[in-house]
Amino acid sequence: MITFGKLESQPGSEKKSVVSGEAEKVKCLIIGSGPAGYTAAIYAARANLSPVLYEGIQPGGQLTTTTEVENFPGYPEGVQGPQMMEDFKKQAMRFGTDVRFGIVTSVDFSQRPFKVVVDDEKTIEAQAVIIATGATAKYLGLESEEKFKGSGVSACATCDGFFYKGQDVAVVGGGDTACEEALYLSGICRKVYMIVRKDYLRASKAMQQRVFNTPNIEVLFGHVTKEIVGSNVVEGVILENSKGELVRKDISGFFVAIGHTPNSDVFKPWIETDEQGYIKTIPGSSRTNIPGVFACGDVQDKIYRQAITAAGSGCMAAIDAERFLSEHGLA
Ligand code: NDP
Repeated sequence: MITFGKLESQPGSEKKSVVSGEAEKVKCLIIGSGPAGYTAAIYAARANLSPVLYEGIQPGGQLTTTTEVENFPGYPEGVQGPQMMEDFKKQAMRFGTDVRFGIVTSVDFSQRPFKVVVDDEKTIEAQAVIIATGATAKYLGLESEEKFKGSGVSACATCDGFFYKGQDVAVVGGGDTACEEALYLSGICRKVYMIVRKDYLRASKAMQQRVFNTPNIEVLFGHVTKEIVGSNVVEGVILENSKGELVRKDISGFFVAIGHTPNSDVFKPWIETDEQGYIKTIPGSSRTNIPGVFACGDVQDKIYRQAITAAGSGCMAAIDAERFLSEHGLA
């Protein structure tokens, strides 16, 4: 019988729930089921680490909310995002990954084996943990935005920009991500509107300069999105300017770039994050501040956020975990 919970002297101990129960012993636990988690699972399983993977709130991760993926190498004809994640999962299971439904609700990384509680009831004791919980794109919260997700509304220009080749699109947001998305789209689309709610951009000066020097980007300062309109696909956007007037812009793609939220809250009592909550990893590795806990994918990457980079970092995490376990005579 294992009981754990309050550790008075540990950081964030107030956040830990007291859970009792027979703990399951696992060599390598992977949390998250996007490209990072499944790639970590493929490598860990092939290295005989008998990984157990918990899928989390959104099995398959962010790619299950997209339609066609054309930029992942190995799919020359493109592939539907949900199908690609099914393929990842099958490949991970083929080598023996134990894939399970479940959400990690608390962790105790004060000592090894690490204690991880799933769905507030099941306790796992893991010698190595790979965090691959991803990030969640923020949306405006409009009903019409929800309606057109996957048919004109996207949170990733690199993923979906190509579908709007030669057309007019809009990007909402005024940070570095919005500027990057607008610049990327400016090379593909005829015209890019940047919808910025304030009268300035929050992005770095260098990024702002690049935006202002790009002739087919028009920055609409002091504009707020009221509604996205269209019949089956996006045809336009209704904006409200600072004078309270409604303005319509005809567009076929609406890109939301108002930030992401890394899914790291449950780990924060133990794992160092930056001010936005992204897990800090030691450069050139997937190692976190706790030896034996590794992080990969979007939960530790605010710059690239691509399926292929997430998959690459998942591979790194599995190799790092395998080396860690070998060094400790546990592999
Ligand atoms: P940020 O939080 O920096 O910017 C979000 C932008 O979205 C802001 O302009 C904000 O407006 C706007 N916004 C937020 N909510 C709404 C809303 N409801 N309606 C309209 N606009 C809204 O997020 P980013 O994703 O741009 O960047 C996150 C971090 O990652 C930053 O530190 C950034 O520097 C970094 N980054 C670095 C890159 C690089 O170095 N190449 C690339 C991408 C990101 P407001 O200003 O009014 O709050």
